[in-house]
Amino acid sequence: MTAAEWESLCDGCARCCLHKLEDEDTGEIFFTKVACRLLDIQACRCTQYAERCELVVGCLDLRAEFTQFHWLPSTCAYRLLAEGKNLPDWHPLVSGNPRAVREAGVAVNAFAIAETASLNPADFVIEWLV
Ligand code: SF4
Ligand code: SF4
Repeated sequence: MTAAEWESLCDGCARCCLHKLEDEDTGEIFFTKVACRLLDIQACRCTQYAERCELVVGCLDLRAEFTQFHWLPSTCAYRLLAEGKNLPDWHPLVSGNPRAVREAGVAVNAFAIAETASLNPADFVIEWLV
């Protein structure tokens, strides 16, 4: 897979850019609505994509660390690929419509909040409806 093909798999939801919590006993991952400080929430884009792994501790280059998909939301194309599952109907590569991700309620722009020093992500745990 070329780099361009790999990048085209990303649906642009930015769910992976939300702060997550891990249950130390069970390993279960909980997502919060608190966005990484480098995320442009409205655009659902990383503002420092090329340097992301140097700038944010825990930000992963999935192509280099493809065993880490359990940190991704269940809707993520990379995780679906790793699990041998099909892409959903709203994925741009299936629907042909880049806006389908937002229309399906998958993108975070509608609800994410910006990270601040005083904000505790544990107070903002969410459950996915899609
Ligand atoms: S969760 Fe997956 S598909 Fe969505 S933005 Fe992150 S890498 Fe892309
Ligand atoms: S550094 Fe960029 S890609 Fe990584 S979590 Fe933050 S916004 Fe997302």
